[in-house]
Amino acid sequence: MAPRRAFVVGAGVGGLSTALALSQAGVDVAIHERAQALEEFGAGLQLTPNATRVLARLGALDAVREAAMVPEAVCALRGSDDAVLMRLDLDDAERRWGAPYLALHRADLQQALARVAERRDMIRLTLGSTITKVVTGEHEVAIERTQDAAIVEEAADLLIGADGLRSRVRESLASGRGDEPAFTGRVAFRATIPAERVDLAWRKARVVLRLGPNAHVVHYPLRKASIVNVVAVIEDSWRGGETDHSWDGVADRPALDRAFAGWSDSTRRLLAAAKVWRAWPLYGRPALGSFALGRIAVVGDAAHPMVPFLAQGAAQAIEDAGALGTALAETGDVPQALAAYSRIRIARATRVQIEALRQGQVYHMKGAMALARDATMRLLGSRRLSARYDWLYGA
Ligand SMILES: Cc1cc2nc3c(=O)[nH]c(=O)nc-3n(C[C@H](O)[C@H](O)[C@H](O)COP(=O)(O)OP(=O)(O)OC[C@H]3O[C@@H](n4cnc5c(N)ncnc54)[C@H](O)[C@@H]3O)c2cc1C
Repeated sequence: MAPRRAFVVGAGVGGLSTALALSQAGVDVAIHERAQALEEFGAGLQLTPNATRVLARLGALDAVREAAMVPEAVCALRGSDDAVLMRLDLDDAERRWGAPYLALHRADLQQALARVAERRDMIRLTLGSTITKVVTGEHEVAIERTQDAAIVEEAADLLIGADGLRSRVRESLASGRGDEPAFTGRVAFRATIPAERVDLAWRKARVVLRLGPNAHVVHYPLRKASIVNVVAVIEDSWRGGETDHSWDGVADRPALDRAFAGWSDSTRRLLAAAKVWRAWPLYGRPALGSFALGRIAVVGDAAHPMVPFLAQGAAQAIEDAGALGTALAETGDVPQALAAYSRIRIARATRVQIEALRQGQVYHMKGAMALARDATMRLLGSRRLSARYDWLYGA
C-alpha cells in the first residue's frame, strides 16, 4: 500500500527539501524541528546547478532565486599577491548545466523553502519538537519526542532523518563504534561584512577564492550586495565544543591573523574589515554502508557530512530529497523505496565527500606543489574548467 504519512526530523535545508519532495509523491509529512524558531543562523551558501535543478522540480526555485545573487564567475587568486590563477565564467551555467548557479544566505534559503512548504496542505512543521527515540517496525515507524516538556509517542509509515552532523536518527543505521563525527583539522572562520566597509571590487557578483599555504579564503556578496560573505579556512587544532552548536563558536582572532600574516594587502584588508568572526570546526563521518534501513532513511549531513570545499553540503542534501521523492513515487513499498533511494545516492554522495576533501588539499598546497597547481590552473581556460565540473553540476 502506498505510504501516507512520514516524519521528517529537522527543518534545515535537507529536511525542508525532503518534505517538499515527499508531498509531491503524495505523502503527508510532519516535520519536527527542535529549534523554537527558524532563526538567522549561518552565513553564505553556494547552490550549484545540480541542486537548483532539483529545486525547480520541487517547485521551490523561484522562491529561492528571489533571495539569491547570481555570480557571473568563480575566480581564483594567489593569496600572496592577488595574481589571477583561473576564472570560471558562469554566465553560461544555465545553458550548460540546465539550471542556475546561485549564492545566498543560509537563513534566506531556509526561509524560502519554509514558505513554499507552508503553502502545501500535506506538510506540517512543528517547532520546538525534539525527536528522542526512533524504532522501525514491520508496518510502521514509532517515535518518541519532547515538546513543551511533554513526551509524545506517535507512529507513521516512514521516517527521514534530516537531523544534521550529529544525527540521532543515524544511530538506527550505523553500527555505533567508529561512526562518531571526526575532526578534520580544519577550522572555517566566517563573517559577513556590511557593504559600506568593503572595496567595490569585493561587492561584484563573483565568487573569489584566495589560495595560500595551509589556508584559503572564499568571499562573495549576498543580499543584493548589501553584505559580503567571507569564509577563511585554516589548519588548526581547535575542535569546538563538539556540540550541535559548533557552527557558531567564538573565533580565535589571533589564530586567524597569524595564518594570513604573509598574504596580500587586499586579503588582509578584507579580513580586517570583518568585526565579528564565528568559528566552525569542520567534522566528517565515515561513509555509511546504506542510507536506509527498513522504514528509516537519512539525508544531508546526517547521511554524508562533507567539508565545504566543493560547496556541496546543501546541494547534496537537496539531491537526496529529489531522489527520495522519485523513489517513493515509483514504488509504494516503503522499505523497497528507501533501499532504492540509498542505492541511487550512495556512490555519488560518497564520491562528492571524497572529492571535497581532495579539493581542500589542493587549495592548501605549498612550495613546489603549489607552483605546479598554479601553473595548471593558469593553463585551464574557462571552457576546460567548466568541463571538469560537468560530472558534478550536470548530473
Ligand atoms: C546553524 C547552522 C548554520 C550553518 N551555516 C552554514 C553556512 O554558513 N555555510 C554553509 O555552507 N553551511 C552551513 N551550514 C550547513 C549546511 O546548512 C548543511 O551542510 C546543509 O544545508 C545540509 O543540511 P542538513 O539539512 O542535512 O542539516 P542541518 O542544516 O544541520 O539541519 C539539521 C536540522 O535538524 C535539527 N535537529 C537536529 N536534531 C534534531 C532532533 N533530535 N529533533 C528535531 N530536530 C533536530 C537541527 O536543529 C537542524 O535544524 C549550517 C548548518 C547549521 C545547522
